[in-house]
Amino acid sequence: SVPLAFFSGIGAGSRRGILFKGGVAIEALKSVKAIVMDKTGTITKGSFEVQQATAVGRFTEKQVLTMAADCELDSSHPIGSSIVKAAREMKLELIRPEKSEEISGKGVRAVFRDGEVLCGNKALMEMHGVDTVAYRKKGYGTEVLVAVSGELAGWLVIADVVKEEAREAIGMLKGRNLVTAMLTGDARDSAAAVADMTGIDEVHAQLLPEDKLHELKRIRQEHGPVMFVGDGINDAPVLAGADVGAAMGSGADAAIEAADVVFMTSSVTAIPESIGIANATGRIAM
Ligand code: ADP
Ligand code: MG
Repeated sequence: SVPLAFFSGIGAGSRRGILFKGGVAIEALKSVKAIVMDKTGTITKGSFEVQQATAVGRFTEKQVLTMAADCELDSSHPIGSSIVKAAREMKLELIRPEKSEEISGKGVRAVFRDGEVLCGNKALMEMHGVDTVAYRKKGYGTEVLVAVSGELAGWLVIADVVKEEAREAIGMLKGRNLVTAMLTGDARDSAAAVADMTGIDEVHAQLLPEDKLHELKRIRQEHGPVMFVGDGINDAPVLAGADVGAAMGSGADAAIEAADVVFMTSSVTAIPESIGIANATGRIAM
């Protein structure tokens, strides 16, 4: 049975687009000491825009964008969607690969009739032995390198936007004396820029999905019970491993399923709000 007081918390939450999956989540939220967040889609809008394309050697910028979009045709990652969108806007003719696999936290490997194309970060290139000495990162944004049959063809620079309410929401969490941390698979400089814009205390970048869980456990050891907020398929293990897992309503089904709390508005402000509701619920119960 669910204690009566929890119903008021669940009701207060649902009126604000915060779905608690049960009284246990509300109870656990009360003792949370650290708020650990995913970057892309959680702190940022996850609506990437291709800002720049650079070609190497015999390739053209148009080819680099086309090949990247071919690879990403079936991707549900926000980076992939932005690449396909940019290519469609330029009316580029896209070809569906014969086979493609998404490598979590790295990118996509796609097989075409005339060769293999890799589309993703430097780690993906290194994993497949692609020579990246020609690669020079210019400006702020996420790196997406493209390689054809093991040869670097060029790269795209894609930028994301921090959610407007993020800074205020982080301030509210810090006002409650909670530790704030961000975990991301993205590069250090992009991560540091986002932390700077929002005031998040701790930043851990270039993490693989399995590293995120490890980092979460370390934060838990140092500070106490943690709430993790994420949105992606690769966030599901971390959501399950946290004392309270919260998913953005705009996120992947796997994340929503693994979460104890769902923020239907996908607003960062829902984090301090959910904690406020949990604490108020406790007071009614006692
Ligand atoms: P985050 O932890 O910020 O949510 P992810 O773990 O989803 O990020 O991805 C980490 C990094 O892996 C991205 O910043 C990007 O460089 C690369 N990556 C992941 N998926 C893709 C994809 N579909 N296409 C290109 N790059 C990708
Ligand atoms: Mg994510």
